[in-house]
Amino acid sequence: MNIRFLGGAREVGRSAILVNDRLLLDYGIQSGQPPQFPEDVDPEAVVVSHGHLDHAGAVPSLLSGDARPSIHWTPPTRELALTLARDTLKLHGGTFRCPFTETDIQRVTQVSETHGYRETYEAAGHEVTFFDAGHIPGSAHVLVDDGETRLLYTGDFHTDDQQLVSATTARPDADVVVCESTYSDVEHEERSTVESRFVESVERTLWEGGTVVIPAFAIGRTQEMLLICERRDIPCYVDGMGKRITEMLQHHPTFVRDADALQRAKSHARFVTGRDGQRKRIAEQNTAIITTSGMLHGGPAMTYVPAIRSNPVNKIAMTGYQVEGTPGRDLLDTGSAEIDGRRMPVSARVQQFDFSAHADRAGLLEFIKSYRDETILVNHGDRCADFAAELRADGFDASAPERGDRWCWSDA
Ligand SMILES: [Zn+2]
Repeated sequence: MNIRFLGGAREVGRSAILVNDRLLLDYGIQSGQPPQFPEDVDPEAVVVSHGHLDHAGAVPSLLSGDARPSIHWTPPTRELALTLARDTLKLHGGTFRCPFTETDIQRVTQVSETHGYRETYEAAGHEVTFFDAGHIPGSAHVLVDDGETRLLYTGDFHTDDQQLVSATTARPDADVVVCESTYSDVEHEERSTVESRFVESVERTLWEGGTVVIPAFAIGRTQEMLLICERRDIPCYVDGMGKRITEMLQHHPTFVRDADALQRAKSHARFVTGRDGQRKRIAEQNTAIITTSGMLHGGPAMTYVPAIRSNPVNKIAMTGYQVEGTPGRDLLDTGSAEIDGRRMPVSARVQQFDFSAHADRAGLLEFIKSYRDETILVNHGDRCADFAAELRADGFDASAPERGDRWCWSDA
């Protein structure tokens, strides 16, 4: 087997790995300023680990020429990837930020093949199997067997249960493991503690008569917040792309931890249409509002945040990591943020809660310890080389490939 790192090596974003020059694993976008894409490639087949932009965002561009590679994913990943593609086209179509057209997206639906967990299938001459990775609904570890070498590509994964999805438990036999390392130097606070602090904080603001805006990523985080609000009986609205994703996930009940709970959570929340100034009225209510975007660079949050910002009783409860350079990060660091081109001081309280969907250092080590005698290639992180060195010091055969690197094994 040989594998080549086309993106996502010693970085987060634009994940792409080519196996035996024929089978592509992921094809993501790094959505910075400007966005960055993986190397051009012409595979026979594509396997997508999960429906996040940095893993699936550039997939339609693989169909812009004459090539028609088959695309393999779980049913939710297919839906999420198509939703993201249409969103990218709507926001950036016709510019360099969107490397595909409506026609390319149509072609994706023609070559798509969906597979469940633990169902082995054939793709570009390889046996491929998905295992539940516990990151978001439909997320998979990808096992690739070319008859000589078994490669396990972890994709993004979580080793702790979330309300929406259960933790990864699968540790399939493999000779080579390409492992994500997003939080290789972070210890997450216990999930139940984060949840309790979050609930207390939201409830306190509601008791005081305030409004709580909860910026949340559309995929996974919005549903996680809905589930928590239902369990703890917190009145809430939901707005932005997360509404559509919630409805979509209801059609894939076997890919969430508790489909009945998701149904209850959806019924508990009020869905915002955004018509006739509805958002401005909601922002005056004594309620929680779960809304995109998670880092405050778009979506209905752009209406809610300015509407509630000047009252110190109100609160903005961040639910995810805020990337450097985003308005969300700016708000946390400076107490003001540039929203729709205007810098706005924010008197409302701002808090952050670490609801991660990735394994932390302990989780990564727990996963990797099942592969003590195998080759570990660390990717998808800001400190891949350091983490690989720490693994080597612990006796592992570990490395951190760079973008463009090629790795070969003649025999398992
Ligand atoms: Zn992800």
